Amino acid sequence: MSWPPIRPELAGIEPYGAPQLDVPVQLNVNENPYGPSAECIADIAAAAAQAAATLNRYPDREFTALRSALAAYLSRDSGAAPVTPDMVWAANGSNEVMLHLLQAFGGPGRTVLSFAPTYSMYPEYARDTHTEWVAGSREEDFSLDVDKARALVEEVRPSVVLLPSPNNPTGTALRPEAVGALCEAVGDHGIVVVDEAYGEFRRTGVPSALESLADHRSLVVTRTMSKAFAGAGLRLGYLAAHPAITDAIRVVRLPYHLSAVTQAVALAALEHAPELLGKVDELRAERDRVVDWLRTRGHEVAESDANYVLFGRFADRHAVWQGLLDRGVLIREVGPDGWLRVSIGTPDEMTAFKNALVEVTA
Ligand code: PMP
Repeated sequence: MSWPPIRPELAGIEPYGAPQLDVPVQLNVNENPYGPSAECIADIAAAAAQAAATLNRYPDREFTALRSALAAYLSRDSGAAPVTPDMVWAANGSNEVMLHLLQAFGGPGRTVLSFAPTYSMYPEYARDTHTEWVAGSREEDFSLDVDKARALVEEVRPSVVLLPSPNNPTGTALRPEAVGALCEAVGDHGIVVVDEAYGEFRRTGVPSALESLADHRSLVVTRTMSKAFAGAGLRLGYLAAHPAITDAIRVVRLPYHLSAVTQAVALAALEHAPELLGKVDELRAERDRVVDWLRTRGHEVAESDANYVLFGRFADRHAVWQGLLDRGVLIREVGPDGWLRVSIGTPDEMTAFKNALVEVTA
């Protein structure tokens, strides 16, 4: 028997994570390349200092002030029905939000369904909560065929359906009719989680699933401050759902899971929402330019509503990835065989990426 005596199904498994390499151009984990202004940094520092003065006490377990601020922020995208604080849950990144959902709604004898290719953490949440993982498939263009998806839901009867929109790593947004169709197929037997980690980057005319919350009590919409909000280092993810769903999650969360510092810093950052989100339009325009450029170079490119682009196809994608890295540009070797994913950075970073790709594929 090997040691340490870890659960046998975890033995020898590599922990999840993209390489963290110190290279000049980092376009591998879909971060926002623009950091906060001096004014925002000063406000965040002041909020952290205030929280520091209370560190002998446990933080507000219900993160009341942050919940209200997140509800107000989400209500911008929810159409006529506002998101109320009792509909909001938050945790240390949407990864932890998703784990909470699986802890509360998955588990032994239950199934979580998603559609591949998709975010590679999803099967890990399933494994870690002893939930069976079932992956249906996407179409050639990575879209979801709603009729096929509904048929699979009826066959598998999942307790949780995970639908990223836009999907990672392909960038594909969900068709608006998919949310309602899958919520109806799941009914009261499960929950449908629309993961909008990259939702703010969607193209004009693509609605947020937040608009459908009032119509479907099984619907959960998750978001994060890591991407458009330029707060990956903050670790703050959140969701909106029926209050009975957020209440159920409270049973599985660890007490005081959001530190006083996290709550204070997230609140201060939310007050700077216009600035922190201020580069989203530029990043979307840069994304569309990169898509066009890759196509004129003869690459296949997936339609993207996110801040990254999946492109290919390469007979030896690892060689292309390595060639870019040798030139100081780190992208991600992820997705179906032959494809690579590049995050959208500053114009200078994208120029470096393009120059390196031209050299590597010459
Ligand atoms: N969902 C998707 C689709 C993602 O790509 C990511 C991050 N890569 C996450 C959730 C988790 O992000 P975070 O924990 O930083 O909120």
